[in-house]
Amino acid sequence: MVFVGNHSEASSMTEGDEELMSILANQIGQSLENAQLFEQVYRSRQDLESKIQERTKQLAVALEEVKKISKMKSEFISAVSHELRTPLTSIKGYASILMTGKVGDIPAEVKERLEKINKHSDNLVKLINDLLAIARIESGRFEMKFAKPAIASLIENVRDLLTLQMKEKGIQFKVQIAAATPEVFVDSSQIERVLINLVGNAIKFTPREGTITIRVQPEAETVVCSVTDTGIGIKEDDISNLFNEFYRVDNEINQKVKGTGLGLVLAKKVIEAHQGKIGVTSKANQGTTFSFSLPINQMGEKSQARTE
Ligand code: ADP
Repeated sequence: MVFVGNHSEASSMTEGDEELMSILANQIGQSLENAQLFEQVYRSRQDLESKIQERTKQLAVALEEVKKISKMKSEFISAVSHELRTPLTSIKGYASILMTGKVGDIPAEVKERLEKINKHSDNLVKLINDLLAIARIESGRFEMKFAKPAIASLIENVRDLLTLQMKEKGIQFKVQIAAATPEVFVDSSQIERVLINLVGNAIKFTPREGTITIRVQPEAETVVCSVTDTGIGIKEDDISNLFNEFYRVDNEINQKVKGTGLGLVLAKKVIEAHQGKIGVTSKANQGTTFSFSLPINQMGEKSQARTE
């Protein structure tokens, strides 16, 4: 409440004074209202902040829990894979010895079955090795040896390794490395593994007389390497699942040729451990391009794999 008056008894308030008072009262009222509003906003902001802080804490605890469970999962997979690998190596070894005929002559039908044991053991060994590699990267126990290999020589190794498969299908292999491409620090055996997987898939999913092209070029702060094929392509619905464990597109080739569905998962983990990115574009019946980037400023001779 506001009282207004003056000390002189003779002079009463003029009309101007009254007007002034009413303007003043109005403004004081507005200011009080603003102050109240401000206080309300301030309080609700504080409320919101403390709620956000509380939720952030809860999320951090949940994230720690998820990390712990994920680590346990990786360690479990790792332990099981090790246990499986040892007897599997023996099975494969014994089958190979028997096949050589050193232990005694073996009839053709037995040999045929031994070959099957050998082939299926190979598939299992590949699956176990992929699982082990993924578990190692996930658990952060994967020490990478960074060096600056010539990317051209990595690609040549991959060509040597897969040349027979390409010849068998009459596939042309092209390599295009941009002249200004700088060498990057990478773990060469891991990047070679990624390339083998991408080119291997390209061979598998490209019909006879197709072409596979590897392109390498600098892009912003990275070097980008892409593997393009003229194969069967991948439908949009399948693309979003490609990097999920054990995902294989339901097609004729996959029904005939065995695979693990882990190759791309591993490739993604390796590239992300290099702080790079991997992606894919594809058109059904026209072809597919897998590209990955590697940061140019990656430094250090040795580094622990970092995965989020
Ligand atoms: P795998 O080859 O053992 O099945 P990957 O993780 O390497 O496992 O690949 C997953 C799936 O992605 C393949 O089964 C195939 O369906 C699809 N794919 C990968 N590369 C290509 C490609 N170049 N062209 C068409 N499909 C592909």
